[in-house]
Amino acid sequence: MRHLIVVLGDQLNRDSAAFDKFDPAKDAVWMAEVTEESTHVWSHKARIALFLSAMRHFRDALREEGIRVHYRELSEGSLADFLKRDIAKLKPQRVIAAEPGDYRVRDSLAPMIEFVEDRHFLCSTAEFREHARGRKQLRMEFFYREMRRRHEVLMDGGQPVGGQWNFDHENRGAFGKAGPLGLPAPRRFQADAITKKVIGLVGKKFAKHPGSLEDFDWPVTPGEALDALDDFIAHRLPLFGQYQDAMWTAEPWLYHSRISAAMNLKLLNPRDAIRAAEKADAPLAAREGFIRQILGWREYVRGVYWLRMPEYVEGNALDAHARLPKFYWTAETDMACLREAIGQTLRYGYAHHIQRLMVTGLYALVAGVDPRQVHEWYLAVYVDAVEWVELPNTIGMSQFADGGYLASKPYAATGKYIARMSNYCAGCRYDPAESTGERACPITTHYWDFLIRNEAKLKKIPRMEMQLRNLVRIAPAKKKAIRERAQELRDAH
Ligand code: FAD
Ligand code: SF4
Repeated sequence: MRHLIVVLGDQLNRDSAAFDKFDPAKDAVWMAEVTEESTHVWSHKARIALFLSAMRHFRDALREEGIRVHYRELSEGSLADFLKRDIAKLKPQRVIAAEPGDYRVRDSLAPMIEFVEDRHFLCSTAEFREHARGRKQLRMEFFYREMRRRHEVLMDGGQPVGGQWNFDHENRGAFGKAGPLGLPAPRRFQADAITKKVIGLVGKKFAKHPGSLEDFDWPVTPGEALDALDDFIAHRLPLFGQYQDAMWTAEPWLYHSRISAAMNLKLLNPRDAIRAAEKADAPLAAREGFIRQILGWREYVRGVYWLRMPEYVEGNALDAHARLPKFYWTAETDMACLREAIGQTLRYGYAHHIQRLMVTGLYALVAGVDPRQVHEWYLAVYVDAVEWVELPNTIGMSQFADGGYLASKPYAATGKYIARMSNYCAGCRYDPAESTGERACPITTHYWDFLIRNEAKLKKIPRMEMQLRNLVRIAPAKKKAIRERAQELRDAH
């Protein structure tokens, strides 16, 4: 055999650089489903099912093209061990793969594989390194502008379309009291024979893993992923911007696209999503808001991941050591916002960005949970979880554990933020305005405790000045009561 092309579970793009010069007469593909990839950290059942189903569909599509695929169905063990064994058997002249998206996997496979650039992304790791060179702190906004210019997205004669780069101020709407009326239901994808078989297998083999398989309806092929994108562009993009940060009880999808998992598995090319939004019949603020997430945030966090690993995962700038509350795995809590966000996470493997950042992430941040445990939770519970995107979002953006490398300040807020952006508080036994007493909102209590606890460190962050100023107005006795209640809450975790 000439070349053996290794395709990992999140590299399901036929236009990958690994297939350049592929010759079906001389070359073959190698793929493997191994238990280690679902167990090295705990993993949602729907996430495992999605990977396995998408991989099997990809395998079958390659075989239909006449390509030889050496495919190992679910086996106990690690990728590296199986690959080593198969290389010894098949004796290829070269073993080639696109760069893996996970430091651990790259490290374990590097001795056996020649890696080629992952062309799925719009910014290569070398280009990002160049962007970061000489900068003490990185900021997404500057990176995003570079990307807009380089790829000529929403540009007009060298200037941003509409005369500004950013429409964030138009994109922070909440629903009124009546809630989101006439929400367009997202397109669902019925399980075919392959997916049904995988769901049965995962249900049995990973019965103890978190999450449910009952509502599994994710796209598992490139065709379905494009349908999901088209459905979003036609029906939800126009209001995506306005309600991007809003939340509502029992409405997990709202105006979000649900394409992250398909994109992360490379079933969907981000260029297709960006171009579709650019030319869509939707307000500029919505189109720009959506494009910013993909061309900006998604590429930016990947750049940070490869720049800062492996030490990035060790970050704990705020010295947070509390354990992750048990209710993160059960959704059994009186806090309505966390019950909702975690409940839908366990049911669907999905929560939108603000639920992740400003509900589950916020609670963990202000309660002082160990960032490593928070990272392992996020990596476990979402269908779209892959480390290059999950880790910087958790360690950097959500937990400020990198000390401000990725974000300019911690995303810390009281329960009043959640009251403003959702209807959760209306159905909660706590009061977001209270920090002590029976009805005190635990997020509000933890928020003030967070400021008191970290005051010296937070004083060094210019953008925290306003928030810290409010601390001065709190009497010492009240501060003491807040600190005691916060500790009681932590002890009850
Ligand atoms: P939409 O809201 O419709 O956004 C469109 C697309 O933009 C998404 O599909 C996604 O590809 C991209 N995007 C949006 N925000 C981000 C972001 N902050 N970083 C990178 N890409 C972004 N996203 C993942 O894909 N995998 C993860 O494991 C993951 N973990 C996260 C952990 C935390 C703590 C936080 C705060 C965010 C995380 N995100 C992650 C980012 C974001 O929450 C999800 O991409 C988004 O919720 C997916 O839903 P959607 O496809 O409906 O997105
Ligand atoms: Fe969440 Fe506090 Fe509102 Fe309850 S009162 S839903 S705990 S923010």
